[in-house]
Amino acid sequence: MYSENRQQSSQGLSLENLAQEFGTPLYVYDANTIIQQIEKLKKAFSSIDLKIKYAAKALTNVNVLRLMKQQGIGVDVVSVNEGRLAMMAGFSPAEIMFTPNCVDFSEIEEAVNYGFAINLDNIPALEKFGRTYGHSKACAIRINPGVMAGGNYKISTGHDQSKFGISIQQLPQIIDIVKKYNLHINGLHVHTGSEVVDVEVFLKVADILFKAALNFQELDFIDFGGGFKVAYQEGDKVTDVNALGKALSESFQKFCSDYGKKLQAWIEPGKFLVSEAGLLLVKTTVVKETPSITFAGVNSGLNHLIRPMMYDAYHHVSNVSNPGGERKTYTIVGYICETDTLAAERSLPEIQEGHILAIHNAGAYGFSMASNYNARLRPAEVLIENGKARLIRKQESFEDLLQGQIM
Ligand SMILES: *Cc1c(COP(=O)(O)O)cnc(C)c1O
Repeated sequence: MYSENRQQSSQGLSLENLAQEFGTPLYVYDANTIIQQIEKLKKAFSSIDLKIKYAAKALTNVNVLRLMKQQGIGVDVVSVNEGRLAMMAGFSPAEIMFTPNCVDFSEIEEAVNYGFAINLDNIPALEKFGRTYGHSKACAIRINPGVMAGGNYKISTGHDQSKFGISIQQLPQIIDIVKKYNLHINGLHVHTGSEVVDVEVFLKVADILFKAALNFQELDFIDFGGGFKVAYQEGDKVTDVNALGKALSESFQKFCSDYGKKLQAWIEPGKFLVSEAGLLLVKTTVVKETPSITFAGVNSGLNHLIRPMMYDAYHHVSNVSNPGGERKTYTIVGYICETDTLAAERSLPEIQEGHILAIHNAGAYGFSMASNYNARLRPAEVLIENGKARLIRKQESFEDLLQGQIM
């Protein structure tokens, strides 16, 4: 995947030309990669009734959501607004799973009114849901299995100290509330974090859910969450989705026979579907030699891609303009008045002012985490489908910065 070829073009379109045509900085998404990733998951879980719910927060452009809809998958949203974007992309409310965290109960009521599937992650919300709807509306419960999983502490969400989900140790309390209000629990859910590599971890968490599930009589689905890891650099460990599909399908089938009903298995990939599909194209504004480091400064920064600073994430960088140049060591930095190192000490073909660099794996949590810090504009987005590049979001303008300001 890190062939020179992929570093120069996308679906046969030259990245240099895309940068010329649409300007930089520019997010570019390859629809084929997204479709391939969906197919991989469908194939890996083909022996069970799998529903894929794309975790929209990874990349929420309506055109990308529409692509997901065309592929016949559903969507997982963490805010009512994400759900509204999904409806604009053509999803029916029932295909939208609402998995909020610490939101006001009024937002949950709003989601119920829209007709979204509901997933609750704290006991007070469960109580309120019971008081408000009794058995008349169904909801799922997000369980915190008490398992440390995922790439690092910041992106791990299913451990004892995490704010997410209702602890498995509070199962007796959950059961009491369900009985008290005759709640209709239609699903159990976990999402233990991002970048979970180990198949064994998924299986261990699944077992915890299966055991808990026997306490609920009206389940339609078990939701195993997302967190499938992709490669950010050569040699990276990734989640083996084939091995996961095989092992999880087997234990799921066994569970269904214990439960006495064929349930649906849901998964919520975000990163897995869109990370590798995305590139951030940036232009080199200055090559700055210091006595110790050669910096390549670019017309972007933590305002467009915060993952390197927020998660110490590694993003592969390639020099689109000079792929055959002599290799030197560069530290790629942004133009924001903060330390915004996008890539430290990388061996890259010689970079000159004006060269276009591609930052890889920028599809997930790239644009969707972008901001206007330093009064900078958020970039344009382009989607490549069937060999054609289409602008799916304009670059912002100065007027956008004034939006909502009262002067
Ligand atoms: C963010 C999120 C996901 C997706 O996580 P990835 O690491 O991108 O796969 C899935 N489910 C929920 C509830 C989430 O909040």
